[in-house]
Amino acid sequence: MERRAFFKLAGTSAVLAAAGGLAACSGTDVPAPLAPPSSEEENATSQVADDPAVSFTSDVDVLVVGSGIAGLSAAMAPLEAGRSVLIAEKLDLLGGESYASTGVMHVSGSAVQKEAGISVTADQAWDARKQEFADAGVTDFDFAKRLFLAAPDWVDHVVDTYGAQFEDPRDYVQNGGPSGILLPKRGIGDMESVMTPLRDGLTAKGATFSTGVRGTAFILDEADNVCGMRFRDVKTNAPVDVRARLVVVATGGFASSQPLVHANVPSQERIGCYTTASMGEGQKLCAYLGGQLNDMDKAAPLTSDLPQVAAWGLFGPVLIVDALGHRFAREDDVNAAANACAADERGYWWTVFGQGLSTGAQAHSVAQVTAKNAKRLVGPFDDVEALAGGLGVPADTLKDAFSQYEHLVSEGKDPDFGRVAYLQKIEPPYYALKQFPVRYKTRGGARTDGDGRLLKASGSVIPNVYCCGSVAAGSVAGLATNGAFGLIVGRAVAKALDEADTAAS
Ligand SMILES: Cc1cc2nc3c(=O)[nH]c(=O)nc-3n(C[C@H](O)[C@H](O)[C@H](O)COP(=O)(O)OP(=O)(O)OC[C@H]3O[C@@H](n4cnc5c(N)ncnc54)[C@H](O)[C@@H]3O)c2cc1C
Repeated sequence: MERRAFFKLAGTSAVLAAAGGLAACSGTDVPAPLAPPSSEEENATSQVADDPAVSFTSDVDVLVVGSGIAGLSAAMAPLEAGRSVLIAEKLDLLGGESYASTGVMHVSGSAVQKEAGISVTADQAWDARKQEFADAGVTDFDFAKRLFLAAPDWVDHVVDTYGAQFEDPRDYVQNGGPSGILLPKRGIGDMESVMTPLRDGLTAKGATFSTGVRGTAFILDEADNVCGMRFRDVKTNAPVDVRARLVVVATGGFASSQPLVHANVPSQERIGCYTTASMGEGQKLCAYLGGQLNDMDKAAPLTSDLPQVAAWGLFGPVLIVDALGHRFAREDDVNAAANACAADERGYWWTVFGQGLSTGAQAHSVAQVTAKNAKRLVGPFDDVEALAGGLGVPADTLKDAFSQYEHLVSEGKDPDFGRVAYLQKIEPPYYALKQFPVRYKTRGGARTDGDGRLLKASGSVIPNVYCCGSVAAGSVAGLATNGAFGLIVGRAVAKALDEADTAAS
């Protein structure tokens, strides 16, 4: 019989109340500004008045908390090994920010790319991109490289085993698009083509999904080891206790949490946020357990409040101009305009596009975004003067921006801002969309070892808890690398269960 009195909670419902950061925790490993108060009453492992005694309603080998690309990918290996897996999600829908994302995946060396005649290996691509990671402030370079090199394995696995679909890279590479990027089947914004088959394949392999339940506390056994998680039904607040041999935390970043951004990345607190569910709950839970949080103060890049539009310049000719009509950033980088707009306090910017984009490989995204944002779309205009009128910018300034851009097109290089992809003329009729910079991802999170096991500041492993994806500091906050992170953690989890069974037999 279960001796319920022995179970303790690490986190408790105080996780939700502690909106200002980690207000209730006693671990010494939690770094400032997430440092906890030292009062005894707010001990990390507590059974507080409003927390009923633990009563398990399900018992699984692996509990995955969060159903984004990292969580779903972590579920693969244990299910393939015949383990029972429950994926718990606080929202009513699965997929997290991953499902809503733009779908630009930095991968090289996948079978999809090889079949398209692209011979660049993951190692070669890493060498070309590693400076970018360094410039972006990635601190665990070795792990970032491991994720980057595992990304093509992740792609191959979700294609071969789950039927995930990617666009044929020839669609864009032969016209000057990037060979080191994969898109979902129908292009920008179609993560459904990757995640729906993954969900269905996991279901077919026996995964159980539970939605509308928010993880609020780890459950600890007599020996103070994690043996499950307490959830709260989001609608009724009723506790739902899940027993698990291993718990994988895959709850995403903390971009949506204004208090956490205020406490950790104040330089971004006055910038709006695109996401709503990335509240840093996993980071808090891990810290309650004594897990170390790293890089919480590292600012992540920004993007457009129409995120798909920020990616159009990678796959077609567009021109970016600020509110005064000046070109100010390269168009083939999803973060460049938003970062520069916020840094230079330009307010907003315009993405100008023409015929080529609306009829090119990303026509699906153009049609979808312009239909949803009809009130923000200006155009069509037959010439630059009329376009300037539509944007409300001085015609001479915009004409200068166009003629300089066309000069760069004729030269075939962009010394002004470094644009490489689709340095091509924009053909009328012209359209434009106004955009604002937003936060959409974060860098900081739980410190983990190479298998994704949660670590204390001392470097010791917290048994039975793994993290993957944007909840972890080692994540480089990209879709493909977070998928690869899930793949690595899932394999480690499956192996750990096998080893434990062998040791017990
Ligand atoms: C608009 C947008 C566009 C983007 N575009 C790109 C792109 O083009 N390319 C790229 O590489 N990256 C992109 N990103 C970043 C990328 O989406 C993230 O790096 C990635 O989705 C993170 O995956 P994840 O699985 O770690 O987290 P998520 O996908 O956010 O999943 C976490 C899940 O955990 C759930 N959860 C949170 N707390 C709890 C809790 N307490 N209990 C239960 N469930 C919980 C959440 O609801 C969510 O479903 C984009 C992000 C956004 C927001």
